[in-house]
Amino acid sequence: MALIVQKFGGTSVADLDRIRNVAKRVARTFDQGNDVVVILSAMAGVTDNLIRMANQVTESPDKRELDVLLATGEQTTAALLAMTLRAMNYAAESILGHQAKVVTDCAFGNARILDIGADPIRALVQNRKIVVMAGFQGCDINGNITTLGRGGSDTSAVAIAAAIKADICEIYTDVDGIYTTDPNICPRARKMARVSYDEMLEMASLGAKVLQIRSVEFAKKYNVPVHVRSSFSDEEGTM
Ligand code: ASP
Ligand code: MG
Repeated sequence: MALIVQKFGGTSVADLDRIRNVAKRVARTFDQGNDVVVILSAMAGVTDNLIRMANQVTESPDKRELDVLLATGEQTTAALLAMTLRAMNYAAESILGHQAKVVTDCAFGNARILDIGADPIRALVQNRKIVVMAGFQGCDINGNITTLGRGGSDTSAVAIAAAIKADICEIYTDVDGIYTTDPNICPRARKMARVSYDEMLEMASLGAKVLQIRSVEFAKKYNVPVHVRSSFSDEEGTM
């Protein structure tokens, strides 16, 4: 039995069928006796759409209000997954960034996590709840909603895993692991079974988009084991 963080990206929750698919995987992990904390992205395309709408309202949307808007994408998927799990008779509960005490600096749109109060999530886990948390969001010390920059739910997942001392942080995505180079461009790209934090940092800084670079910095700093894998298969990905 382990404490497992599972993060699902936008393509993994792109529609209700895929959310059902995620619910089944989460339920299976829970049924095996593990405690599960799920971190979600917004449905694919939703964050882009929200930004587009804001830009139609005004050329320079107020940054505070833009973060209030963008945070709704992850709020939506967290509620929908928790609802789906409850309909399957699992005791799931959604939690937003501020409720989970994800404290960030005040840099709207690109905020950095300063601290995570692990107690709210721990309390839920201790009651054998499946925790479904909205990624990408936190709040500053004045209580304003902030977002963590594009791809920021990866960082939410690794930071939460560090805060609650999870045994592993699984990042479910639409590719089946980390490749030596972009497999869409280079047909000879190979999937790697393991990659070090430093190698991953280098790849992310060179443009590998599979993980937000800050999530790798967090993983390295707190020694979080991260497993990048496909949400569409049971195949092992890359540690
Ligand atoms: N929804 C946010 C984005 O599109 C955060 C994420 O998916 O990680 O960048
Ligand atoms: Mg991403």
